[in-house]
Amino acid sequence: MKIDSIQNGVVIDHITAGCGMRLYELLGLASLDCSVALIKNVSSKKQGHKDIIKIDADIPVNLDVIGYVDPGATVNIIRGGVLAEKRTIDMPERLVNVIKCKNPRCITSCEQELEHIFKLTDKENKVYRCLYCETKADNH
Ligand code: ZN
Repeated sequence: MKIDSIQNGVVIDHITAGCGMRLYELLGLASLDCSVALIKNVSSKKQGHKDIIKIDADIPVNLDVIGYVDPGATVNIIRGGVLAEKRTIDMPERLVNVIKCKNPRCITSCEQELEHIFKLTDKENKVYRCLYCETKADNH
């Protein structure tokens, strides 16, 4: 599948090599009915190697997830076979229901209906902490 073979869809480009699978999982792409391609270790002049994800449907993707996993990625929206929109990604201040707190004593572990919220506490080092117990999120 080439970019220009997509008529309406989303291309997540410039993903740091090795981060594509994590993005694929956190974006929930496995549960989509449309075709999704995860291309790993593509040669890139700018990055050496990169991963690319192509989604053959114009679905909303969670930009917060991309900003959390790999803020250097770019999101291209393809409509009618042409690039309709290009979005640059930034690290979100808050991550809601993307990752779960790993502290077994955290209130989110017992209160099932509670949202899992993480706050960006150190942008330089990409540190996210649980809003409730301040446990640091796993690095990715
Ligand atoms: Zn917690």
